[in-house]
Amino acid sequence: LANRAFHPEDSIINVSGVKVGGDNLAMIAGPCSVESYEQVLEIARAAKASGANLLRGGAFKPRTSPYSFQGLGLEGLDILTAVKEETGLPIVTELMSDKYLDVFNEKVDLIQIGARNMQNFDLLKELGQLDRPILLKRGLNATYEEWIMSAEYIMASGNENVILCERGIRTFESYTRNTLDLQSIPVLRKLTHLPIIVDPSHAGGKWWLVDSMAMAAIAAGADGLMIEVHNDPESALCDGAQSLKPNKYDELLKQVAQIANVV
Ligand code: PEP
Ligand code: MN
Repeated sequence: LANRAFHPEDSIINVSGVKVGGDNLAMIAGPCSVESYEQVLEIARAAKASGANLLRGGAFKPRTSPYSFQGLGLEGLDILTAVKEETGLPIVTELMSDKYLDVFNEKVDLIQIGARNMQNFDLLKELGQLDRPILLKRGLNATYEEWIMSAEYIMASGNENVILCERGIRTFESYTRNTLDLQSIPVLRKLTHLPIIVDPSHAGGKWWLVDSMAMAAIAAGADGLMIEVHNDPESALCDGAQSLKPNKYDELLKQVAQIANVV
């Protein structure tokens, strides 16, 4: 179902009125984690003014250590919903457990499946039952074929609204958090008709790498960007080191617009 051979045109996925794919750029911005209503609202307003059209924020966080901040859970989801009402930005947030399928289906505009759950096949099958589009991030060590097969699981179960997200893969290099695989953009475009966006924040793990990789992703034909933006990165509860301040995000989107005009 994901195969380009049987579906030559690019798929355009409708995320609560925001079109993703084709000539449309998805600009997803927001904090790694939802920390408070005031925090998310301030970031969302600034990001929207810069040109973001979707708001991200983790309520359920897949942290490496059980002692790290795990997210605000359902309270975080309520905060995102309140900020959506205030700003009009549809929300993108990660689902980790089938326990919350119903509430996510009701409240979340674009359901994110994180790198660590890319091959949680039972969860993928359940996503096929939902009406909401799915943002499927590439697994930390997933090949293109494995990633496409995970999209296929969701589609074969009944939900063909899948957007792919390249977020860097594990390599021997440890200076950066992951290695951004820009080749995945033309390869996935050749193999599938699904939109593909890029997350340079989790790829590099450093805020000063985000600009160049974001521009390179757009130049390579990505259908959008997911970027972590924080109003006070130094005190962020998660991923401050890779988060852009709102003014930097604003500068970046101006540069991205110029590149998007040429490609
Ligand atoms: C995220 O986007 O919040 C996240 C945890 O990313 P990933 O699953 O790519 O590590
Ligand atoms: Mn993060």
